Amino acid sequence: MFMNPTEEQARDRIEQLRWPDGAACPFCRLHQVTKLNGKREGFFQCNRCRRQFTVRTGTIFERSHVPLSKWLQAVHLLCASKKGMSALQVSRMLGVSYKTAWFLCHRIREAMRSPGGLLTGTVEVDETYVGGKGSNRHQGRGTFNKVPVVALIQRQGNMRTRVVKTVSAKNLMKALRDHVDIESTVMTDDFMSYRKLDEVFYQHEAVVHSKKEYARGNVHVNNCESFFALLKRGLMGSFHHVSRKHLGRYSNEFAFRWDTRKITDEERTTTALQLAEGKRLRYAQLIGHEEEAGSKN
Ligand SMILES: [Zn+2]
Repeated sequence: MFMNPTEEQARDRIEQLRWPDGAACPFCRLHQVTKLNGKREGFFQCNRCRRQFTVRTGTIFERSHVPLSKWLQAVHLLCASKKGMSALQVSRMLGVSYKTAWFLCHRIREAMRSPGGLLTGTVEVDETYVGGKGSNRHQGRGTFNKVPVVALIQRQGNMRTRVVKTVSAKNLMKALRDHVDIESTVMTDDFMSYRKLDEVFYQHEAVVHSKKEYARGNVHVNNCESFFALLKRGLMGSFHHVSRKHLGRYSNEFAFRWDTRKITDEERTTTALQLAEGKRLRYAQLIGHEEEAGSKN
């Protein structure tokens, strides 16, 4: 269904997902709308506010000249590839320019951004460095040019990521406070910046990595380690260079696939399409002329 649809099939599919109960005005939510037939294919008009809209209005597809059939295929490609897909590959597979593919991929990553909500129960938290050269963790040598990424993973649940400037206690605490319920049990390693977590969260347990301890009963951050392995392999294999600026969105993409790892590629594509509403990402934001909404993630 997702590969090689006609433009009409693609639009029907996206309309169905967005409006299972029939088209609704994106401005006033009213269902009393009129389908405009003829020249303006795919257009509706609201019977109250009289504004015209399509299924693209208010979604990542808005103001894009790319046919919905290509959008649908791009979403499917990103959802079905375990390690992600480079813009170059997407450009070749869809027959669009590299620049178009690049923008398409970033908008899809924006859609994949978690809708939010706090993680609860037992939550693993760990950080790693991505990009640059050298292999040392924490703020040791060899971390120059590397960007710290924090992973927060609820056991048997969903996850969040955050790109931080430095792995200071303040920045890590902020990431935890933004994403983790204070009633949670937090699992980390013995990195200094995590020392005061027990003052805020219900319980804090640390595995003593510095003494080569990798698990003590259920005290470990193995899910974070697995996620980082996936992220790094993906970034290495598919993306030659990821700047600090865009790393948050790449991490979103990997976190989205992690959250949806137990469903089929088809179902994951559907989920991503449903998340496309209410998210916008303008080209000016992407290339740095404007502050990004997703940067606070
Ligand atoms: Zn309206």
